[in-house]
Amino acid sequence: MEADDILKVVQLWAKEFHDLAANPDLRYIQIFENKGEVMGCSNPHPHGQIWALNDVPTALEKETERQKAYFEAHGRSLLSDYLALELTQRVDVPAADAAVGSRSPRIVVENEHFVALVPFWAVWPFETMVVSRRQVQYVTQFNEAEQAALADILRRLTIRYDNLFQTSFPYSAGMHQAPVNDGPHPEWHWHMHFYPPLLRSATVKKFMVGYEMLAGPQRDITAEWAAARLQALAEVHYKQA
Ligand SMILES: [Zn+2]
Repeated sequence: MEADDILKVVQLWAKEFHDLAANPDLRYIQIFENKGEVMGCSNPHPHGQIWALNDVPTALEKETERQKAYFEAHGRSLLSDYLALELTQRVDVPAADAAVGSRSPRIVVENEHFVALVPFWAVWPFETMVVSRRQVQYVTQFNEAEQAALADILRRLTIRYDNLFQTSFPYSAGMHQAPVNDGPHPEWHWHMHFYPPLLRSATVKKFMVGYEMLAGPQRDITAEWAAARLQALAEVHYKQA
């Protein structure tokens, strides 16, 4: 999709979120997208869903607690400080690419308002996180320039994903936001997760089974190696190249 069309999706997310949050019975709104047969999708096209609940799911309760503890201790959002750290990290590139200069070890793409990176704690092979440079709690708080920048970063990231194995890259992706109708959440920092299942090719996926299911996820590749692979890809879609 072109950036202008993705912008319409971003604007729809904001509108739906705004309308749902007006219902005082709701506590959490999950906006997400599933893409690809390998993700169990019944539809061949990527499709977005929004689930609105009168309770805060466990994963979001945990993210709220952790962000709150950090905010109370430091007076800044955890993801603001994490982003600042990632933006200052540099590694040298091989001599053959010296013209490129140093590069970030984990940032894949960035623009004026958003950064997409492979977080150091990533467990899915090419997992990424999109973080807003400005700390907001909700998608409804993005101004027009930020909405356009979100469309831009999503387009550039997903083109790189498609180019990785020259396939329509499957994933589950979605944004995490503060609970609604729950008082102020100054600790919360909007972000979006991408969890793609593919490991080595368009057909070889990672399985979260065995030890991983019973005890804890194991990493097949490092965050740095995944970021370097994604950084090296073009932002022209392979079908259009
Ligand atoms: Zn999250």
